[in-house]
Amino acid sequence: MALYTCMEAAMKVLSQKGGSEGQKVVAIVQEMMEGRRVVPNDMPEELKGALQMPLDLQDLMPGPVVWLLLHLPEAQRVRRVRHRAADGSGMTPEEDQKLPTNLMDIYRVLKIGDDRLVEIDASGSTEEVLRRVQEVVISKCEQWRQLTPVSVPISVNWHFTRQCNYHCEFCFHTAKTSFCLPSTKDGLEESKRCLARLRDAGMQKINFSGGEPFLHAKALGTLVRFCKEELRLESVSIVSNGSHITAKWMEEFGYFLDILAISCDSFHEATNVLIGRGRGEHVKQLESIRQWCDDFEVLFKINSVITKHNVNEDCGIVFGDMSAHIERLKPIRWKVFQCLPIKGENVGDVERNVEPLLIPPEAFQGFIDRHRRCSSVKQVLVAENNVTMKDSYLILDEYLRFLNCTSGAKVPGPSIRDVAVVSALRTAGFDENMFQQRLGEYEWSKDKVLQKERRTKQAKRTGLMVLSLALCGAALALVAKHRRCFS
Ligand code: SF4
Repeated sequence: MALYTCMEAAMKVLSQKGGSEGQKVVAIVQEMMEGRRVVPNDMPEELKGALQMPLDLQDLMPGPVVWLLLHLPEAQRVRRVRHRAADGSGMTPEEDQKLPTNLMDIYRVLKIGDDRLVEIDASGSTEEVLRRVQEVVISKCEQWRQLTPVSVPISVNWHFTRQCNYHCEFCFHTAKTSFCLPSTKDGLEESKRCLARLRDAGMQKINFSGGEPFLHAKALGTLVRFCKEELRLESVSIVSNGSHITAKWMEEFGYFLDILAISCDSFHEATNVLIGRGRGEHVKQLESIRQWCDDFEVLFKINSVITKHNVNEDCGIVFGDMSAHIERLKPIRWKVFQCLPIKGENVGDVERNVEPLLIPPEAFQGFIDRHRRCSSVKQVLVAENNVTMKDSYLILDEYLRFLNCTSGAKVPGPSIRDVAVVSALRTAGFDENMFQQRLGEYEWSKDKVLQKERRTKQAKRTGLMVLSLALCGAALALVAKHRRCFS
């Protein structure tokens, strides 16, 4: 547990790790501490858009933080100040008188308080004070340990909008609100700040999802670019139904995007229409997107949800299933999900009712086994049944709240707009083991994947060249031998 007994230590962390915004906060706080700026009643205007104390400070620290405020009894404090003033090593008694009030005002303005700020009696010997400090730290550590352990949010899915132009009957994330933070006034900047805090907490991959994320194409492109160019995340991905993707968007933002996953449950348009995915042009659009992914070097992925409508899909030529299409489209991953009921989204007192579409685990496994008969499909197929899916995703909703699915419904926790990422994670219900078990971490950076592909191609070319040279050599040797025989 990190221990900070004075504002200066916190300021040091901010100026070292908080970037330019942290330095701005430090400069303003110093002015307030030195009396060159009046302490306002609320967070100063310049700080409202910058770092949020203490949330950001907590995110910057390696562990949980407790703030200690050491209080000396009045007589002892006055004695100490007089003594220092006399030998010229400290502030005057008048200056010292003002300091605690000023400091408390600054703490209040910066919202450092609540149960994190502990006042400690600083009278007595050094040993006595240290013992009191130790007791507080030990009890805070104990409280912290009793809370759920926190995972590092390596891979985060932000469903930043719930709006969608499709109406899939099994939809797991339905249009309950029309709120979309990046499209609100100042919301794009706030979204960037929250994404940066997630990165500081350990996020390596962000997936933008919905609803349909391309209903906010411009904001989406801006965030994709920001995450790659400024946050330098290993992987930036999008899951979309594909209907609103254009070549122009791909040309402008494809460079910053690692993975584009398109949802497609069937290669029969009639089945797609039955499911609610579009009006009969879904597969055609999927083919166009596949081509754009090649043109603009974006890794292509397919997501399919298996329901009673497609569990027996029979449209392949060789294997009698979806394999032929998957082989032709060559996604880097084909994620196949067993249709999942979620209370309050697709079952319960809501508009949708997924129950007639559900399939038993054996039927799902049958679908997977059938498709794994094809070796090239087997290499890319990642199956997720209801058990592996439920708690293995870190899902943020449109208000940037982690959704806890452990109860079978999506229960939101506090928003990372209001609390530190580390605190929000405590109620996320995330099962890190299941995340690893479902192969949630994989080679997700397009630079690495494309580099590997180029190396393989190069090795093949070199192999072919060596083989050709060897064949030429053998042929020349044969000709030379024959010439000698005939001469
Ligand atoms: S396309 Fe996705 S978000 Fe839209 S209705 Fe279908 S499942 Fe839901």
